[in-house]
Amino acid sequence: MFKKILIANRGEIAVRIIRACKEMGIKTVAVFSEADREALHVQLADEAVCIGPAKARDSYLNMENIISATVLTGAEAIHPGFGFLSENSKFARLCEDCNITFIGPSAESIEMMGNKSKAREIMIKAGVPVVPGSEGRVETIEDAINISQEIGFPVMIKASAGGGGRGIRIVRGLEELKKAFETAKNEAKNAFGDDSMYIEKFVENPKHIEFQILADSYGNTLYLGERDCSMQRRNQKIIEEAPSALMNHKLRKKMGEVAVRAAKAVNYKNAGTIEFLLDKNGDFYFIEMNTRIQVEHPVTEMITGIDLIKEQINIAAGKRLNFSQEDVVLEGHAIECRINAEDVENDFRPSPGKIEFLHFPGGNGVRIDSAIYQGYTIPPTYDSMIAKLIVHGKDRNEAIQRMKRALEEFVIEGVKTNIDLHYRLLGEEEFLEGNYDTGYLMRILHR
Ligand code: ADP
Ligand code: ADP
Ligand code: MG
Repeated sequence: MFKKILIANRGEIAVRIIRACKEMGIKTVAVFSEADREALHVQLADEAVCIGPAKARDSYLNMENIISATVLTGAEAIHPGFGFLSENSKFARLCEDCNITFIGPSAESIEMMGNKSKAREIMIKAGVPVVPGSEGRVETIEDAINISQEIGFPVMIKASAGGGGRGIRIVRGLEELKKAFETAKNEAKNAFGDDSMYIEKFVENPKHIEFQILADSYGNTLYLGERDCSMQRRNQKIIEEAPSALMNHKLRKKMGEVAVRAAKAVNYKNAGTIEFLLDKNGDFYFIEMNTRIQVEHPVTEMITGIDLIKEQINIAAGKRLNFSQEDVVLEGHAIECRINAEDVENDFRPSPGKIEFLHFPGGNGVRIDSAIYQGYTIPPTYDSMIAKLIVHGKDRNEAIQRMKRALEEFVIEGVKTNIDLHYRLLGEEEFLEGNYDTGYLMRILHR
């Protein structure tokens, strides 16, 4: 087992990883930008190294500085968390070249799945159902028109390198497509440094259902049930639950086995997630694979009792999974609310600043993954997610009641948050019935 791990991330996920390491008796190295000197992950780690100025490009995305910090502190492995360098195959390869273990899949697997249009091609070949659309990337407006007319409007034009809900655009007709295609390409070029695009049919009112995968180096690939992440604002998740209220045993097995097939097609190792859209007819389509730990991993941990970060570390250290598919039993129900420092009334504009007063909820079945504390100043530079509130209950109804009372207890003063929005959503009839799709939140906001 590793003696020391460097965590190439910040915020709650860095704290989450440090906690797992401590429980495993592994020493930790935090890295931080100049804006994060006071950050919790810096205080909790055994050692901390400054890797550059506030801008992510100069610090959390600065591969050379991160590798130097690893060598300097004698860490044997790097955990990349999510976002930043977690899905960067160049970084994974750089680690390999420097004899540092990258806690994640191989650079080759990341390459195959990281580019979303290339992933589509590979999935089609592997017999995994994908959303009707282009085979791979779409180069010209002529091709875009042909494909769109073939599959029928509305369509989604998507950036191959997109993520976090960005680089996705719905197009309802031919004229709109002509206008949008070049703009979308330019935006993708600016945002991701890659202007390659692909096209998918717009699936009407789908559910976002994703499967957690764990794969070791000995050919064992398991699925750990699904997460329903259909509560989204601007194509980004804000509430996730496991299991899905509308799932049944038969469909879970079918989708889970397809997810395993998808992972095996890219020789996947470590933790990963296969994302699907599930339509009203019960048909499901692969949309992408996230080749890393995900924000919403705790809901799976709560219903399976499996610590996904520890499993990631074990797998990277060459250990064999010590349970089988039959051992994965889903117990009760878990819900996660992403608490963001944002102004819901003003188009979800980020609301950074100083936390003047803070009270976290607690009690039976309540978990908080967060890196904020009273007196902490949220920098404007990074993501607006400041905490994840997770509850577990014996069934969905208990989990909902528990989440509502936990949200009532939660107090954050000094910055605007989406806590009230969460509370409202948990009381909506469609949520109570489990009958909400990916467009639901944006529809009801204007009601
Ligand atoms: P998940 O897929 O785990 O639900 P998100 O899609 O919300 O997570 O993304 C996880 C984090 O990584 C967020 O902070 C998001 O802003 C960031 N992120 C994901 N993909 C990208 C990307 N391609 N470029 C920039 N940030 C990204
Ligand atoms: P990201 O890499 O940003 O996570 P995804 O491809 O996973 O992008 O899509 C994010 C969300 O956008 C989905 O959960 C869904 O709500 C919506 N979406 C993506 N593709 C489609 C599609 N073809 N039809 C309808 N909605 C889609
Ligand atoms: Mg996604």
